[in-house]
Amino acid sequence: MQLSLFSSRRVVAGIMLILFCSRIWSHGAAPTPAIDPDRTIVFPDTEDYVTVITDLHTHSVFSDGHVWPSVRVSEALLDGVDALAITEHLEYQPHRLDIPHPDRNRAYDEAVVAAKGTDLIVVRGSEITRNFPAGHVNAVFLTDANELIKVPNAPLDPGEFYAASQEWPAQAAIDAAVEQGAFLFWNHPFWTEQDRQAGVTAFHEDNAKAGKIHGIEVVNGNGYSEEAFEVALKNGLVVIGTSDVHNLIDWDYKPHAGGHRPVTLVLSKSRTSKDVREALFAKRTIAWFKNLLIGRSSDVVPLIRSSLSLQSEGYRDGTSLARVVIGNRSDATFELVNLSQYTFLEHGSLIVVPAHGEIHFTVKTSEPLENIDLQFSVRNALVAPRSHPEITLSTAL
Ligand SMILES: [Zn+2]
Ligand SMILES: [Zn+2]
Repeated sequence: MQLSLFSSRRVVAGIMLILFCSRIWSHGAAPTPAIDPDRTIVFPDTEDYVTVITDLHTHSVFSDGHVWPSVRVSEALLDGVDALAITEHLEYQPHRLDIPHPDRNRAYDEAVVAAKGTDLIVVRGSEITRNFPAGHVNAVFLTDANELIKVPNAPLDPGEFYAASQEWPAQAAIDAAVEQGAFLFWNHPFWTEQDRQAGVTAFHEDNAKAGKIHGIEVVNGNGYSEEAFEVALKNGLVVIGTSDVHNLIDWDYKPHAGGHRPVTLVLSKSRTSKDVREALFAKRTIAWFKNLLIGRSSDVVPLIRSSLSLQSEGYRDGTSLARVVIGNRSDATFELVNLSQYTFLEHGSLIVVPAHGEIHFTVKTSEPLENIDLQFSVRNALVAPRSHPEITLSTAL
């Protein structure tokens, strides 16, 4: 009896030990979140492309973030993000005394383990971090992050490490990333704490001209920059919007209260890593920020066209009052300003179409028509600083 109790205790202890060990060695396992459809970011595909939701700038404990990479993966799954990059500062390593990781691919590796069995595309990326004027540049679709940093006799102290890391020229890190076929973008160019001057620096301009910096953050976190949007359009740079999250998405963007992280909608041939990369280089992007869609007209207009539809509900008997409905298949609340020759019965010039909803209204057409074209200026979309796209919605009556 005594013996058998002892041995069953040993069995239990053995099982506990196995469980404990497996917990130690599989710390990348992601908590599987329960998906809340109200929270996921949803935009329809366009006529020609798949709309891929990406966040290409986030942080974990492997630089100055406050969560393990698996938490970033869980958040991405909760938000309906299709492609995620955890882009650690290579040089800024405030947790270095506790996490002195010599392999700069660790955050990516951990995220890949955490994302196993899901459709999430994990993108290998890093944030090249220098003092002004180079500032911060993200490189995504890397093959080896370790090639982007050189710190001989690396000091353990984070401050000394950062100082020593600045010695290797930013240009060398950029060139190493380009060598790997990476997509590079200039981060938060409007970050006044570091970049005290507005506009493009020679460093960024030269690299953009040389085809080594491909994009620019027009949106970063809670900031949108008209100046950066202008720079993007003038220099042929790809429009990027990212969360740059360091804490929790829930704290910073309150998705449970209707908010969302900023993302880049990439118009891709398919939902694969290869095609997302191709679409980025082809500049087919839209930043989704608060309730704004920001990008080139050639991308924004097709997305609006696939999001909205106009349908007729027939004329009111014996009148020239046409009843119509505009439906919306996207997360954006569309604010449409009437540019057509007609006026509306129940509205002024502004028609608001709720996200994933519809609005019914009556158009005064003067005489019965067979078809109608309604032109609108889309106030919640930008195709240049302070410039809204125009669309025409048509239907038979
Ligand atoms: Zn940064
Ligand atoms: Zn960052």
